[in-house]
Amino acid sequence: MILSIESSCDDSSIAITNSETLELIYHKKISQELQHSVYGGVVPELAARLHIEALPKILEECVEYFPKLKAIAVTSAPGLSVTLMEGVTMAKALSISLDLPLISVNHLKGHIYSLFIEKEEVLPMTILLVSGGHTQIIEANSLNDMNLIASTMDDSFGESFDKVSKMLGLGYPGGPVVQEYALKGDENRFELPVPLRQSPNIEFSYSGLKNAVRLVIEKCTNEDGIVSEEDKYDICASFQKTAIAHIMQKTKKLFKQKVPTNFAIVGGASANIYLRTQIEELCVKNGTTLYLSQLKYCSDNAAMIGRVAVEQYKQKEFTSLDDIDVQSRLKGF
Ligand code: ATP
Ligand code: FE
Repeated sequence: MILSIESSCDDSSIAITNSETLELIYHKKISQELQHSVYGGVVPELAARLHIEALPKILEECVEYFPKLKAIAVTSAPGLSVTLMEGVTMAKALSISLDLPLISVNHLKGHIYSLFIEKEEVLPMTILLVSGGHTQIIEANSLNDMNLIASTMDDSFGESFDKVSKMLGLGYPGGPVVQEYALKGDENRFELPVPLRQSPNIEFSYSGLKNAVRLVIEKCTNEDGIVSEEDKYDICASFQKTAIAHIMQKTKKLFKQKVPTNFAIVGGASANIYLRTQIEELCVKNGTTLYLSQLKYCSDNAAMIGRVAVEQYKQKEFTSLDDIDVQSRLKGF
């Protein structure tokens, strides 16, 4: 069994995975969304303090499995350095005290392997990763052969939902609440510019759209500084339609170049129903097999880190206590 730890942002999570059967023996996650919501986003220092409380609490429940453990895995990059350090420190301590090898896991590979929790991997696959910090298209041939083929020039898809939510005073994380508001709104009320519409390149940008939404919000704000609920519904619907139109335009371009056999959307924002539906239609039209993570595994969790760790364990891809390092950003894979 492998014990895996995830603390790259605001979720403290630990999982135990059977490396032979892939069975998820144990999985728990404590989210900090409520504590960060008042600030409209994740406060790194607060997140780190909350991990210090939550991780040992979860670990206590895993003690009975300690004799069966073969390795300790932990997310080391990318993410917030101060929160990554909490997980890595715990992993190092466990590795020393239990005399077990250490596995350093790339968080983004974790999002990709959320597709394969308790399942065999299906690769090669073209992957659209939409999360809080990333918007990427990845060509994944194997765990150790992944190529970045498109990314965002500025904000990420999920981040734009968070920022629109913050501007409307709807709290953090923005994705679920903006999607909820959008359901009640008129998506055609506000005309917003689809980013990079004229650009022939497959790349993303969300800062311009965010600013366009800001201007709409300003126009809808009354003298008392209030935006009506009706207007908020319409703003969310119009924004969501445009944010997804951008993803769809670029994904269609990609399909035009070469229709993928296997396609997937992963990351926290892949939970978006509107995005899932449109990607599903595109895949059906092109005869592409679509893979989606279960909703509970879209956002950060240790089960996906454990799933990657199983592959690294098989390949004996271990790291030493001295070599493991946290990194907030990674260049490619
Ligand atoms: P990264 O994985 O890039 O380091 P992260 O771990 O912070 O970033 P995730 O946990 O994968 O990000 O995803 C969280 C993001 O997903 C948030 O920005 C959140 O608003 C967004 N999100 C969640 N649900 C939805 C939804 N239904 N629609 C759009 N965005 C969503
Ligand atoms: Fe993530």
